[in-house]
Amino acid sequence: MDCIFCKIIAGEIPSDKVYEDENVLAFRDINPQAPVHVLIVPKKHMRNILECDAQTAAAVTEAVGKVARQEGVSVSGFRVVTNCGRDGAQSVEHLHFHLLGGDKLSESMA
Ligand code: 5GP
Ligand code: ZN
Repeated sequence: MDCIFCKIIAGEIPSDKVYEDENVLAFRDINPQAPVHVLIVPKKHMRNILECDAQTAAAVTEAVGKVARQEGVSVSGFRVVTNCGRDGAQSVEHLHFHLLGGDKLSESMA
């Protein structure tokens, strides 16, 4: 399958990894939108949140907490976003959650 995140998970494309467990890989976004911008990605390929099962949602949620603490933003705060489909401006069709922080983020969500 021609999926860039599956290739990163397989180690075929390098990434700046910040966290990994059995179900999840987290790495820095190549084009950061905030001082901390980490992508939290289930290892199992699924296109977007509409295909996300409960086990994956739990694994990602746990990883969010670990990455936020590790990156030092759990006290100051952060934002988690997943874009879905055309109107959601999703550009990579492998489910991923953006963890953004390290500075005061925009009050605007869209
Ligand atoms: P989306 O627009 O689908 O919500 O987010 C995709 C994100 O993946 C973008 O923020 C983009 O910068 C990031 N991205 C795309 N290709 C790569 C890559 O090869 N490596 C890394 N680390 N990030 C990528
Ligand atoms: Zn994939």
